[in-house]
Amino acid sequence: MTSQFKNYIAGEWRESSEAADNVNPSNTRDIIGQYARATAADAERAIEAARAAFPAWSRTSPQVRHDILKKVGDEILARKEELGQLLAREEGKTLPEGIGEAARAGQIFLFFAAETVRMAGEKLPSVRPGIDVEITREPVGVVGIITPWNFPIAIPAWKIAPALAYGNTVVFKPADLVPGCAHALSEIIVRAGIPEGVFNLVMGRGSVVGDAFVRHAHVDAITFTGSVPTGRKLAATCIENMKKFQLEMGGKNPLVVLDDADLGTAVECAVNGAYFSTGQRCTASSRLIVTEGIHDKFVDAVTERLKSLVIDDAVKQGTHIGPVVDQSQLDQDLSYIKIGQEEGAKLVYGGELLNRENPGFYLAPALFTEVKNSMRVAREEIFGPVATVTRAKSYDEALELANDTMFGLAAGVCTTSLKYATHFKRNSEAGMVMVNLPTAGVDYHVPFGGRKGSSYGPREQGSYAKEFYTTVKTAYTLPG
Ligand code: ADP
Repeated sequence: MTSQFKNYIAGEWRESSEAADNVNPSNTRDIIGQYARATAADAERAIEAARAAFPAWSRTSPQVRHDILKKVGDEILARKEELGQLLAREEGKTLPEGIGEAARAGQIFLFFAAETVRMAGEKLPSVRPGIDVEITREPVGVVGIITPWNFPIAIPAWKIAPALAYGNTVVFKPADLVPGCAHALSEIIVRAGIPEGVFNLVMGRGSVVGDAFVRHAHVDAITFTGSVPTGRKLAATCIENMKKFQLEMGGKNPLVVLDDADLGTAVECAVNGAYFSTGQRCTASSRLIVTEGIHDKFVDAVTERLKSLVIDDAVKQGTHIGPVVDQSQLDQDLSYIKIGQEEGAKLVYGGELLNRENPGFYLAPALFTEVKNSMRVAREEIFGPVATVTRAKSYDEALELANDTMFGLAAGVCTTSLKYATHFKRNSEAGMVMVNLPTAGVDYHVPFGGRKGSSYGPREQGSYAKEFYTTVKTAYTLPG
């Protein structure tokens, strides 16, 4: 008997007329459970409940919000192994990666628990005599949260925690592929004592539930992480409906490797950044830009390192890279591998399907060399274990190639030169820059986000999150 999981709407666990199987990508015979699929009417009910709960929640003492968020963070951390296991099973990240992500979600809740008591304002004299001016922050209202499948617990955490901390109420729609972590997180939030209507879980299709969030007049703000086409569509609808919105979308992140780099560091940065988590990270180092003097050594060393990686069931001990998340993502990866070859890039390693003990979406990590930055494999986000190597004649050319993209999420450089490291940090057109570190892998207490086609709106995470989750009020007083 497959377990059934319900939505949480208006303070109740509610069934829906439809449900969908949550399938393990490492073993497609393993069904994790059946998860409710909300209708537009369910979404509407959740939005109205969040609207009704807003006035009281927005005026709660920060201590009340602190205590609930802290309880959530503590429970996630106490159960990180079990949640990490569920994450690895439903998304295909390896067990250590899953546990690490669960722990991060816990830390995020603890960070925002503490943020509740840091809502400082400003008071200053007016330019007009005798008047005081105060600048304060207030919650925005009902926040619609729409998340992707690649970080099934961390992304929901870094949107739900600040939304609640700053006094907003929430309607949350996780990606269809990963309702398991979203449901487990929701149970923890409910158990922590969240009042009725303040938090609502609405699992369902983007075109039904997500669309209802974006169009409904009683949703005040939308925070979205996902693909560029969906983000674009959603932005247009938000503007039509005068909603505040924030988008985190794709990346085509360059990792520049200079002649003077430490080879071991560069190889680890490239392999970790490009292939770990099956390359399914918006911060993945999918473009490796390598100067002539180190190019051949680097390609040989990366290839050797790839040969040593174990691609297998995500929850199995010793697995370095789990499967691709589902058939449609696998089809996309394979189609880009074909496109790369047709464009004249050289596939020097991987790219083939792998058979393992159980049926799953196993793909050997693929490395292309002789890639021109104009090729589609260098310009479009593939979102799989596929990386390209482009030659650069000099540091200047490498920087130019790194910035020659519609995206601007993360960028990295491997070098032992302070001069180049400093120059790259100042001149990279990405929102996040890494020196001698993989482009993927960030801290939870500092801003996350990009420029150009990667992101829109204020940064997420850390105390910068309040730019999105609060709105500023300026008050003038003439005392007496
Ligand atoms: P990904 O492939 O990373 O999941 P998508 O952009 O397809 O990227 O999906 C990201 C999130 O947006 C998911 O939760 C998805 O269900 C949701 N979504 C998809 N289409 C729409 C839409 N038309 N309106 C609102 N949300 C949507």
